[in-house]
Amino acid sequence: MFNKYKKKLNKNKNMQKAIVIGAGIGGLASAIRMAAKGFQVTVIEQAEKPGGKIGEFRQGAYRWDTGPSLLTLPELARELFTLAGENPDDYLQVEQIDPICNYFYADGTNFTAHANVEDFASEMEKKTGEPALRILKFLDKYRRLFEIAAPVFLFNSFHKIKNFNKPEFKRTLLHLHKLDAWLTMNSRNSKWFKTLYARQLFNRYATYNGSNPFETPATLNMIAHLEHNLGGFLPKKGMYQLVESVYQLALKLGVTFYFNSKVTRVLYEGKLVKGVESNQQQWLADLVISNIDATSFYHHIMPGFKKPNAVKNKPLSSSGIIFYWGINKLSPKLGVHNILFSENYEAEFKAIFKEKKLYSDPTIYIYISSKKIPGDAPTGSENWFVMINTPADYGQDWEQLLAIARQRVISKINKQFQIQIENYIVSEHFATPITIEQKTGSWHGSLYGNASNGLLSAFNRHANFSRKFKNLYFVGGSVHPGGGIPLCLCSAKIVDELIGDAQN
Ligand SMILES: Cc1cc2nc3c(=O)[nH]c(=O)nc-3n(C[C@H](O)[C@H](O)[C@H](O)COP(=O)(O)OP(=O)(O)OC[C@H]3O[C@@H](n4cnc5c(N)ncnc54)[C@H](O)[C@@H]3O)c2cc1C
Repeated sequence: MFNKYKKKLNKNKNMQKAIVIGAGIGGLASAIRMAAKGFQVTVIEQAEKPGGKIGEFRQGAYRWDTGPSLLTLPELARELFTLAGENPDDYLQVEQIDPICNYFYADGTNFTAHANVEDFASEMEKKTGEPALRILKFLDKYRRLFEIAAPVFLFNSFHKIKNFNKPEFKRTLLHLHKLDAWLTMNSRNSKWFKTLYARQLFNRYATYNGSNPFETPATLNMIAHLEHNLGGFLPKKGMYQLVESVYQLALKLGVTFYFNSKVTRVLYEGKLVKGVESNQQQWLADLVISNIDATSFYHHIMPGFKKPNAVKNKPLSSSGIIFYWGINKLSPKLGVHNILFSENYEAEFKAIFKEKKLYSDPTIYIYISSKKIPGDAPTGSENWFVMINTPADYGQDWEQLLAIARQRVISKINKQFQIQIENYIVSEHFATPITIEQKTGSWHGSLYGNASNGLLSAFNRHANFSRKFKNLYFVGGSVHPGGGIPLCLCSAKIVDELIGDAQN
């Protein structure tokens, strides 16, 4: 018994140490992957709890998810449990959302997007006149495109030349011309669909990574495939359950967490990082993985260091103003996810991305988790998450914009549903680009790092490794392959492979 214990101690002494800066979903996934690899892992997080942009807030009997509301590709999260030898179902139960969304257009047209793709297409044809077959063919085209693109653009680092020898890279390169990168999303969707309803609906998927459909490549139509062909999901206890489940797994694997601990400096010597400084203490490690926004990383904790091109004045993804309302009334016309479209999408995106302003008639997204999770609101009540897209923070007066947004959102909801919603708000708080930056460290409050508004934007994202330091890596929504939970999980998977390579 004693010998066995001693051996374990010796083994621990020889274990390599990894530090993860930030406990966002990318950082948590990396911590799990490194622990499973045999590293002694420490996560240092400035906030009081894990999750970063995936947060929750409780007030009285209400609970709100404060950030993401939709999970796609849940198998990427489940994979973390299986690689650690655990049963994912013991930690994380997800349910497919059906219907996936209720759409309300400015001219009064509305319809329900069912989870079943044929039902969705035929309902849309019935309500908007867009031929169902066109919709199904569109989703099928982007399913094929996703299968071609994902191995290179999502599941691998294309910043490593040697990856180009992998068979999946060769295959993708052969089909590069099919990736639909030469047209903008809106141009493709305008050519493809006959109705403005379908164009607006499918252009909306650009916002899933904070981009402008009038500029972003049509390749991003793949996001519509993920939602409609593969499904949108919600963990049984809400989005924050995703964080809690992976956090529990990390603890089980022996990962140590320090909360309320801001990393203020990265320590380095020559071509190696040596660790980090936090709370005036030095933490030494064999490798460091940063999960914080890449631009914030170079500005705040490596300020004297030459900034790579990827973080130099690149256009930022959008941000948002969100109202979290406790509503003491039920709304039978609404589901878990609801969209109230603006009348003129082009003008809306021009305001957000070019003029850096709020649009006068914003598209409103309403997420009500209590429709699915009754415990999220008192009986007879609902927890509304009401969001509009906004520019990132470029010094606008957000206090004033918040008041303007509130008034516009209320009057649009009132007009749409013939109610006085302000009379039913019994609990309220909000988020703006400023509060999002303060809470999560995202650069100027942008939700997804750099915008993907350009042909080369995928190539302009920061790589998952440092070109200067051999043992410094990057995960999360501001680096390759991009923002959104599934891509953050992909970034952790890529770093796992890169570190595996570095050790061999
Ligand atoms: C309102 C909103 C809605 C969204 N909707 C969706 C959605 O429906 N579906 C979806 O897939 N995605 C959505 N996203 C995007 C998704 O939330 C993010 O892409 C993802 O959660 C980012 O994870 P990350 O790994 O980059 O880490 P982040 O969440 O960015 O976390 C980074 C962590 O680093 C910490 N940190 C920063 N600086 C320091 C420091 N110096 N020292 C220590 N710690 C530090 C922060 O406190 C934070 O915890 C949404 C985001 C927002 C804000």
